[in-house]
Amino acid sequence: MNLAEEPYLSIQGEGVMTGIPCVFVRVQGCSVHCAWCDTSYTWKFRKHLQREPKDVVSNVRALDATTIILTGGEPLEQDLHELQNLVILAAEVGVITHVETSGLGLCDDIQVEGLTPKFEFLNLCAFNTISWKPGIDKTFDWTRVMQIGNALKAGSFQYKFVVDIDNIQDIVRKVAGYIDPSVQVVIQPDTSKVKSNEELGDLGEEFINLYREKHLYWRKIRFMDRLHYRMWGNEKLR
Ligand code: SF4
Repeated sequence: MNLAEEPYLSIQGEGVMTGIPCVFVRVQGCSVHCAWCDTSYTWKFRKHLQREPKDVVSNVRALDATTIILTGGEPLEQDLHELQNLVILAAEVGVITHVETSGLGLCDDIQVEGLTPKFEFLNLCAFNTISWKPGIDKTFDWTRVMQIGNALKAGSFQYKFVVDIDNIQDIVRKVAGYIDPSVQVVIQPDTSKVKSNEELGDLGEEFINLYREKHLYWRKIRFMDRLHYRMWGNEKLR
C-alpha cells in the first residue's frame, strides 16, 4: 500500500462514529482536490511509504486499536486488491475498517442498470463502513448521488456534506430532494471557513431553519462539528 504517513492512533472526529479511538491509515494520492481539503500533502500520486497490508494490520494491533479509518488521499484510487487484503486481514483479528471516500471511484463505476464488478467487490468484501464526503466543488451529479445512496442504503453507509454559510441552503435542499430518507446524512462545517464558535453557531441556526422549512425531522440527518479540528486544528498525525 502507498501510505502518506505511518498509521497513528487518534479519535474519529467526524460523522456518526465521532469519538471512537481508531488508527488512521492515510493513503497517498488523490485527484479530487476538494476546496476544503486539510490534507493536500496527500494529493500527489508519488510512491511514498510502501507497506504490506499485513504489516499495516500488525501496526494497528500494536496500537491496541480495533478500528481502522482508511482515509487519504482517496482510498478508492489505490490498488483495490491491497485494500481488500487490508480489510480481510484486519477483520480476521477483529479489527473493523471504515473507508472515507469522496465517492469518485464509485461514481465512475456505478451504472444505472446495475453494479459493476468493482462496486460489487467493494460491497461483497465488506468494507464495514463507507463514509462518502462528496467532492462537491467538482462537477457534481446529484442523480448519481441518489443512485449510489439507493444502492448502498442496505449497508453501513453515511454521507458527509461539507458546508459553509453560503452553500448550506443549497446542499440541504439537494439532500432533501435527492437522498433517500433512510440514508444517514451528516452536515458538517467547512473548517477552512467556519472557524469561530460564533460562525459555527450561525451555521447551526441556518440548519435549524432548513430543518423546519424542509420538514427534515423524518430523515436520518444531523448537524455535527469536526471534533478533531476543535481539539487540534490541522495538526498532522492527530
Ligand atoms: S477527497 Fe479527501 S483527500 Fe481528496 S481532496 Fe477531497 S478531502 Fe482531500
